[in-house]
Amino acid sequence: MKYVIALDAGTTSVRAFVYELKTGKFVHGASQEIEQGFPREGWVEQDANEIYYKAAYCLNECVRFTGAEQIGGIGIANQRETVVLWDRKTGEPVCPAIVWQCRRTSDFCASLSKEAVKEIRERTGLVPDAYFSASKIRWILDNVPKAQTLLRQGRLAAATVDSYLIFKLTNGRTFATDVTNASRTMLFNIHTLEWDETLLRIFNLPREILPEVRPCDARMGEAEIAGAYVPVAGVLGDQQAALFGQGCFDRGDGKITYGTGLFVLFNTGETCAESRRGMLCTVGYSAGGKTYYALEGSVFNAGSAVQWLRDGLGLIRTSAESESVAECAENNGGVYFVPAFTGLGAPYWDPRARGMFTGLTRSTNRAHMVRAVLESIAYSARDLIACMEEDSGINLREIKCDGGASANNFLMQFQSNLLGVGINRPSERESTALGAALMCAVSLGEIPLQEIPRLRRSERIFSPQGDREQYNKLYREYRRAVERTLL
Ligand code: ADP
Repeated sequence: MKYVIALDAGTTSVRAFVYELKTGKFVHGASQEIEQGFPREGWVEQDANEIYYKAAYCLNECVRFTGAEQIGGIGIANQRETVVLWDRKTGEPVCPAIVWQCRRTSDFCASLSKEAVKEIRERTGLVPDAYFSASKIRWILDNVPKAQTLLRQGRLAAATVDSYLIFKLTNGRTFATDVTNASRTMLFNIHTLEWDETLLRIFNLPREILPEVRPCDARMGEAEIAGAYVPVAGVLGDQQAALFGQGCFDRGDGKITYGTGLFVLFNTGETCAESRRGMLCTVGYSAGGKTYYALEGSVFNAGSAVQWLRDGLGLIRTSAESESVAECAENNGGVYFVPAFTGLGAPYWDPRARGMFTGLTRSTNRAHMVRAVLESIAYSARDLIACMEEDSGINLREIKCDGGASANNFLMQFQSNLLGVGINRPSERESTALGAALMCAVSLGEIPLQEIPRLRRSERIFSPQGDREQYNKLYREYRRAVERTLL
């Protein structure tokens, strides 16, 4: 038994990675794209069957590579909030999965009473929004007759993607989820760590359709793969898996994921920080009998703005080229960009805001515009971190980074200068999958929990350079540009 497999069931793809059990070293990987359906404006759906079959395909591929007897277990990290409703007798989904990005329940969420909003905030640490699972489950029960029929027969299951995969992989023997995924449903009380009667009442949902909630390091059963039985153990939502994989174990340890969007999470220890600034309080992970909380802030557009430079404007040929082009400009030339393609989230919360370049003159060139886009990603992260520090009273010392755009050296250095803290880039950039693999190894008793941070290797640390006041001034100018985009 030398390896663990991490199954990373993301939004655009499902991937499985083989890691060495004792060291977390990457060995092999397999990947499959997942189709997304957009049946109406603002709706996003996926086929849960496809997610399962592609996950099983990737797992088989990995098991064939190593041999089943070499695999100690399978850990799972997954896209959060997305809901699947299925028949517990057959495992068949009743309708397409409603994906976290889907806005179909926005009106329902906007109609929640003030009192309900207050209860939700206090109990879940979340901001009432269509993003989370509860209103999506309600929608399916109201609109899919099959779901009602199964409910009457006591055969209906409603849960997140992790839970559906566990159910299918264990041949229906386990109907469970982990505490981090539960904390994103808006039905789970993050203080008592149980499904909450008040929340169930607000969304008019019966408790018995929901899975059992277990800690992240719990055993979830055995999956039958390539003729062998392999334990499923170690389950977390993707952002929490990245936090764990980056070894952010102490209060104040944080990470920024620079992907299509940008996610900041940091550990607030065994207590929840209450946010007054629109950040989310969520379960970071639970293992070894303890639960750690995290503050979370996100920005919808980050790497997507770089994609837009490439595909929309044709200013760069590849995302990676943004680095060398930005470095051609000595400074930003007074140009600022606000990446409000789909409105602005925290801390501005204006869904109608739209993107903008400011400060253009006849001497503005391609390098200035590319640079302004990269800088806007760093400014957005500073916006979030300022709120999170205020909410928690924690001052971040150093931040770990991951995600596609963390490969950009210009961006990482600028981020460090702007925040005045070090940005620490790991040699293993797939923090999400690594987090699930390490949680699996902890669950199997192969790696002691406290060893995890020591397994992480830094590839490069970006230390703050330049004059702090000059960067504060740039940030103030960015905030002025933002003001102009708000409606
Ligand atoms: P996701 O998991 O959200 O699909 P990834 O973590 O794979 O995203 O990151 C992909 C994003 O990162 C894309 O939007 C891409 O434009 C951006 N990206 C990738 N490499 C670079 C780079 N070197 N510089 C800037 N942006 C990059």
